[in-house]
Amino acid sequence: DRQITINIKCVRYTNKLRMIIARDVSRLITVNKIHTDFVANVSHELKTPLTVLRGYLEILQNSQELPQKFHKPIAQMNIQGARMQSIVSDLLYLAKLEDHPEELPMQALDITHLINTIIEAVQPLLTDKHHQLELDIDHSLKMRGVQTELHSAFTNLITNAIHYTPSGGIIQIQWQATASHAVFSVKDNGIGIAPQHLDRLTQRFYRVDNDRARDSGGTGLGLAIVKHVMQRHNGQLEIDSNEDNGSEFRCVFPIYQAVGFNAEGKPSKA
Ligand code: ADP
Repeated sequence: DRQITINIKCVRYTNKLRMIIARDVSRLITVNKIHTDFVANVSHELKTPLTVLRGYLEILQNSQELPQKFHKPIAQMNIQGARMQSIVSDLLYLAKLEDHPEELPMQALDITHLINTIIEAVQPLLTDKHHQLELDIDHSLKMRGVQTELHSAFTNLITNAIHYTPSGGIIQIQWQATASHAVFSVKDNGIGIAPQHLDRLTQRFYRVDNDRARDSGGTGLGLAIVKHVMQRHNGQLEIDSNEDNGSEFRCVFPIYQAVGFNAEGKPSKA
């Protein structure tokens, strides 16, 4: 009475010879689920003790009675505590994204407004690094999606572009439609990524250069989050990059998800 999931693949050898491969992937799905649940449970259990630890560390850091020799260590503990909190929160978010509900709560979104909100939030970072921002936005292009998820994915890409571009760089943000897709892209002229890393960038905790990446303050989970968000929106993440020559990250959505297009990708009156 066990429910099973079969993966079926048809391989064509010659015009006459084909082979159908059926694989029972139920066990794989169960193991993946156990793994995801475990990570989610551990992260959840770590949340409260971390909040308590950080609370006390902050009290210590702000205390007038703290001896001078403890100032530096306590400040460091606070920074690392904040980092752990970010990792735990990103892991919990990833676990949520890995769960596939029957239907996502998608709604028609004003993407221009979403992008503006993100830019406002990252403005201090942009100013700090003297980056120049260039926008190419189709204000009329709206899309069906989950606001919180797209907000998080786009924020990750924009903050990465800011972090991995030396001061005085140029960050270009584009939101435009082609005949077949709606595309959100973030392009920078920063440090870039060597080709051998590109395939693995969306794996959890994968970083090109650990020291440099750790300095960015990120968790190493940002691009994994973007990849999952894109999968949930029937789209994909495309990456073009050259070492020392900048990068472009594109979120490519099927055009039928843009408001005003029908399932065949043709403009509709609705
Ligand atoms: P992190 O928190 O380390 O930024 P991400 O998952 O967002 O984690 O990114 C994974 C790695 O990809 C980063 O550590 C960095 O090495 C590389 N990376 C991401 N975005 C860029 C970019 N715009 N330019 C250069 N490298 C990047």
